[in-house]
Amino acid sequence: VGVFFRPVEKIAAVLETYPKGIAGFRRYTEFLDTAPEIADAAGAVELDGARGAIAFRDVRFAYKDSRPVLKGIDLDIRPGETVAFVGPSGAGKTTICSLVPRFYDVDGGAILIDARDIRTLTLASLRRHIGIVQQDVFLFGGTVRENVAYGRLDATEAEIVEAVERAHLTETVAALPEGLDTVVGERGVKLSGGQKQRLSIARMFLKNPEILILDEATSALDTETERAIQASLAELAKGRTTLVIAHRLSTIRHADRIAVVVDGRIAEIGSHAELMATSGAYRRLTEAQERLHHGGEAGERPAAE
Ligand code: ATP
Repeated sequence: VGVFFRPVEKIAAVLETYPKGIAGFRRYTEFLDTAPEIADAAGAVELDGARGAIAFRDVRFAYKDSRPVLKGIDLDIRPGETVAFVGPSGAGKTTICSLVPRFYDVDGGAILIDARDIRTLTLASLRRHIGIVQQDVFLFGGTVRENVAYGRLDATEAEIVEAVERAHLTETVAALPEGLDTVVGERGVKLSGGQKQRLSIARMFLKNPEILILDEATSALDTETERAIQASLAELAKGRTTLVIAHRLSTIRHADRIAVVVDGRIAEIGSHAELMATSGAYRRLTEAQERLHHGGEAGERPAAE
């Protein structure tokens, strides 16, 4: 562990880049015990002022000792565009997104941000420009303020308050016994799933990354909370290049493009309207899910999963 025991700020900064939750990513404790396999290349340069164009060029990838997971992903994402990845479980949606912050390096091909191979950039600067929001939010046992500021450790009070506001958390925070100074987590006030997600959204407003990865919730919040969260996420995504790992079809209709991932390849890509005009997998999945929704039994898993 030794080398990784550093002041809490440093750990927090690193943690930000190693969230738990996105399937397969190392957990906090594991990270503390493991030297990172991914390191800066000799002569790595800083990525600053990213526009947020992302290009996948014939990207191939396999986890250690396993069969190929990505079998040639080609995709150009424009700055500010939202692309949602859908497809069967295990198709590679999460893996595609996890390669952008270099949780793993590609085995073949390349990923470029603003036309620069991400392997030529420093990890710290690359990850500064990428934000990840996921269902399984990591809160540490500090105050609300600390948990929000974890999005950017040098944030001012005014910036924290603004981020809380933009995540529609102001009222919730006002209702807590000590406002922003309320301790949350195991030893403090328990926040609901929806509140935790808002807190992570506040973090991201503060971090203000050009690139956003949204790992969509799989477990259901109640419909109203879900809708409110979706609205906040849509606001957060505005003006940022956004990759959505979608586990349901209903929430991604408004994505600029939807990529259907099947067995490590992009089988179809287009807007909802474009894909619905074909007779491909997306249309079949959407129709099946709608049937389920209208006539299916409660608790049944949607066809996309
Ligand atoms: P889901 O919708 O279930 O989240 P997905 O499309 O996001 O699926 P991935 O999580 O990218 O799929 O997984 C693709 C394949 O890689 C699966 O076969 C999975 O079992 C495997 N895989 C994922 N993470 C790891 C890991 N850390 N180590 C080994 N294999 C992994």
